[in-house]
Amino acid sequence: MRVAMIGTGYVGLVSGACFADFGHEVTCVDKDAGKIERLGQGEIPIFEPGLDDLVERNVRAGRLSFTLDGASAIRGADVVFIAVGTPTRRGDGHADLSYVYAAAEEIADLIEGFTVVVTKSTVPVGTGDEVEAIIRQRRPDAEFAVVSNPEFLREGAAIEDFKRPDRVVIGTDDARARAVMGELYRPLSLNEFPVVYTSRRTSELIKYAGNAFLAMKITFINEMADLCEKVGADVQQVARGIGLDKRIGAKFLHPGPGYGGSCFPKDTLALVRTAQKHDSPVRLIETTVAVNDARKKSMAGRVIEALGGSAAGKTVAVLGLTFKPNTDDMRDSPSLDLVPMLQAAGASIQAHDPEGMNEARKVLGDLDYRDDPYGAIAGADCVVILTEWDQFRALDLSRVRLLLNRPVVVDLRNVYRPEEMARHGFDYFSIGRGEA
Ligand code: NAD
Repeated sequence: MRVAMIGTGYVGLVSGACFADFGHEVTCVDKDAGKIERLGQGEIPIFEPGLDDLVERNVRAGRLSFTLDGASAIRGADVVFIAVGTPTRRGDGHADLSYVYAAAEEIADLIEGFTVVVTKSTVPVGTGDEVEAIIRQRRPDAEFAVVSNPEFLREGAAIEDFKRPDRVVIGTDDARARAVMGELYRPLSLNEFPVVYTSRRTSELIKYAGNAFLAMKITFINEMADLCEKVGADVQQVARGIGLDKRIGAKFLHPGPGYGGSCFPKDTLALVRTAQKHDSPVRLIETTVAVNDARKKSMAGRVIEALGGSAAGKTVAVLGLTFKPNTDDMRDSPSLDLVPMLQAAGASIQAHDPEGMNEARKVLGDLDYRDDPYGAIAGADCVVILTEWDQFRALDLSRVRLLLNRPVVVDLRNVYRPEEMARHGFDYFSIGRGEA
C-alpha cells in the first residue's frame, strides 16, 4: 500500500517508519528543509531509542523515503496521513489547527483516485468534518474519505507502543475507508492487538479523553503527595496500596513536579476549551489544568526552601531538563518553569541532560551546560533531580557528597530512598514522603 505521511516529527517519523516496517511503501514529507536533509543523510533529527536502526533498515529496503515535495508523495497514494503539530493557539487555549488545514488544502489539490485522508494529529472533535469540507470544496470531483486515527505512542517507547499498542482506534463510517485502514494495520490485527472502530467524532474525542484521564491521575497523586507531607504518610506506599487495586492500576501514579511534555498540557487545555464551547464544561479537567500549572510554578519554592530560604548567589545543579527520560523533547517541560524562576531568585544553574541539551539551549538559552552529572554537581549548593533518567538513578553518592558545596539534594522524582540519603549525610528533600 502506498502511504504519504505529511509531517515528519515525533509521530510522523515513528509511524512512517513502522508502517514501512509492516511492508508498506511510505514517503514522509516535511516542510522543514533541514530535517529532510538530515534524514536524507541517514541522520535522525530526534532522540528516540531504536529509531535509527528502524529507519535505516527500511530506507535500505526501499520502503521508506523522505521528501520536501508533498506532490510526489501524495499523488497516487492510497492513504495520506496528516501528522503535523497541533500546538496551543496563542491567546485562547484552543488547539491551533492552521497546520492541519494547510495540509488538507495541499492534499486536496493532489489526490488521485480513491484516497483515504487520515488525521493522526490530535485534533478536537469535529476537525475531521472541517478537513472533509476543505477537500470537498477545492475538489468537488475527488473520491476520498477522511478518517480519524489518533496516535497513542509515548516518546521514549514510541516504536514499542506503535508495534505493540494497547489498541488502535479508527474513526470512520465509510466502508471503503474502513477496509483500507484494516489492510494498513493488518500486521497488528493478525497479532490480535485490538482495533476499535468508531465514528470519526468519537475517535477524535477518545484521544482527548485518554490524555485528560491520565493527566488527572498524575495530578491526583501529586495532590495526595502534598497531603502525605502534611499528615506524615508516604505517597509511594499510598500509590502502591491503591495501584494494586485493578480498578485503579499502578501506572501514572508517580508523584513529581507536575506533568509536562508535548501532549498533556496542550491537550487538556484544548479539551477544556472544546467543552466550554459546547456548553458542557469538564470541571475535573479544568481543575487538573489549574492544579498542574500551579504545581510546576511551586517547585522553585521547594528548592529555595531547601537552600535555607534564599537562592541569591547560590549555585544549583539541575539534573534532567527534558519532560521525561529517553527523549530530547523540551516542550512544556517542568524545567521551563523551574530554571528561570531559580535564576530570577538569584541562583546560577549548572545543568546536565543526557540527550536534551541541544533542544534545551533553544528554549532555556545560556546556562552552564555540563557534559555529565558530576560536572553539573561540582561546586553546587544543591542538586535538583528533575527528570528520572537512568543515569541519575545510580549516582556515586559519596562522590556527589564530596563534589557538593553543601549536601542538599532535592529529588523531585523520588529516585532515592530517604534512609540511604541520610546515611550519606545529605539534607534530602523528596515528594510526598511525610514519614521520613
Ligand atoms: P512535531 O512538531 O514533532 O512534528 C510536526 C512536523 O510537521 C514538523 O516537522 C513540521 O515541520 C511538519 N509540518 C507542519 N506542517 C506541514 C506541512 N504542511 N507539510 C509538511 N510538514 C509539515 O509534532 P509531533 O510531536 O510529531 O506531533 C504531531 C501530532 O501528533 C500532534 O497533533 C500531537 O498532539 C500528536 N501526538 C504527539 C505525540 C508525541 O508524543 N509527540 C503522541 C501522540 C500524538
